[in-house]
Parts: sequence; C-alpha cells; structure tokens
Amino acid sequence: MGEAKRKQRSRKLILEEDPWCCYCGAPATTTDHCPPRAIFDNRIWPEGHEFPCCAPCNEAGRRSEQVAAAILSVSLVSDAPDEPWQRTVKSLKVNRPDIWDEWQEGSRNDQRRLFREKFGLKLGDLLRQQQYGIIQLGPHSTKALEDVLGRLGQALFYKHAGRRCTGRVWVLRVDMLNIEGALDKIQRSVPLLAASTRSNVDLSDQFQYRYNVSPSDGIFAAVVKIREQFGAMIVVMDEPHATAFADMPAGQRMKVRECPP
Ligand SMILES: [Zn+2]
Repeated sequence: MGEAKRKQRSRKLILEEDPWCCYCGAPATTTDHCPPRAIFDNRIWPEGHEFPCCAPCNEAGRRSEQVAAAILSVSLVSDAPDEPWQRTVKSLKVNRPDIWDEWQEGSRNDQRRLFREKFGLKLGDLLRQQQYGIIQLGPHSTKALEDVLGRLGQALFYKHAGRRCTGRVWVLRVDMLNIEGALDKIQRSVPLLAASTRSNVDLSDQFQYRYNVSPSDGIFAAVVKIREQFGAMIVVMDEPHATAFADMPAGQRMKVRECPP
C-alpha cells in the first residue's frame, strides 16, 4: 500500500472509532499529529499519536507547529550540517516574520557567550556557525512552544484517559541546555514509560515521555523529553481538580491552557 493510501486509511479508522475532536469536542473531519510530524527526522513520527480533530483546531495549531518545528527538530549534539532544519527556518522567515524578527534581536556577542557556556568552546562555536545561535525564546517563540505543549497535554490525556479533558492543562518548560541530566532525574519520579516507536524503529531519541494517569479522577501528568535540549512537565486535570489546582501556588506559576481552548 502506498504512503498516501495508508495515511487515508489510518485517518478513516481513527474517525470511525471517535468522530469528535480530541481538543474541543466538535465534529472531527480530520486528524492531527501530536507532537507535530515536523519535529521528527524525515517526518517519521511515533505510532499512536494521530488524533481526531476538527478543521478549526487543526488550522489553529499550524502556526505554532511551524515555530515548534524550527525550535525542536534540530539536534544540538550532532555536529553534522542539518539541511532539512535550515529549510524549515527559511520557510519560517517567510511565514512568521514576527518570530524571525524576535530571533534577530540578540547581539552576536551574547549568542557566542551563551553557546560557549552551554556547549564548550569548540562545539559552542560550531553550533552557532551552523545557525543554531539564531534561536531565542522571546515572547512569540515561547507562546508558540507553550501552545504546542498545551495541545500535547490534551492529546496525551485523551490517549491515556480514554476521553477528552474538559478542565485545564498546565505546562512547565524545563531548560535542558544545561545538559546536567536534570530532566532525566525528574522523569524517574513518573512511573510509566510510553513507547515511542514506528514499525519497531525506536524514536525515543527524538520524543519520549513518562506519565501517570487516573482516568476515574481525570488527572494526567507527564514529563516529556524532546531530543537532548528540551523538556516539559505537563499536568492535565478535569474539574473539580482543575479549579483546586489553579488556586495553588504551583498552578498559578505554570502556563495554563483551557479545555476546550
Ligand atoms: Zn476542535
């Protein structure tokens, strides 16, 4: 079976099984890949991450996905030139001038210092020369990234609790550039490791998460790792827990996404 046919078939089966959007509950006419396919090498994404989605939610996710792809699809520890990534950045320059402007704001000296501090003199300079130095998480980039992570929280709740969330998603980004294994340690506190494979190919070097879920309470928590440089803690809750958590200091510090959005 050709790739296009296979995709069509998988979409049809997903919509037959549940014809309602996993984000907002409206009639679903399409499917959404979450995390977005664009963050994976050669757009090969893990099985079990395609969800029923309505056209407006699908469209709403697209702008943020492109930004997330530029930030998340790059491997910072590989020193090979990354041509697909440079193409992604080029198209971002055309489609999201707001993000591009944000990335141009930092001074070259600041970037050189930051990369040398994070990666050492040699690798730091190499990465910067390969253009990785342009990425700066200003307010526009941060918002796009948090939007993608919020959607991921909703999608993972749907996948593991077996229904859509009607409460809220909280996201706490974890800066991984310190390469101290901080996120690995946090991850060990969450019991269940999710598979991240396609046709037995292990994709956990690109996307991997551990989680816990209580479908009866409507509570889901995950620690997500994307490549070497990026991580997030995601908490998803139905009511009445969502309102209770929102009143706690932790809930007030984390970024919130309402369900439905
Ligand atoms: Zn929707």
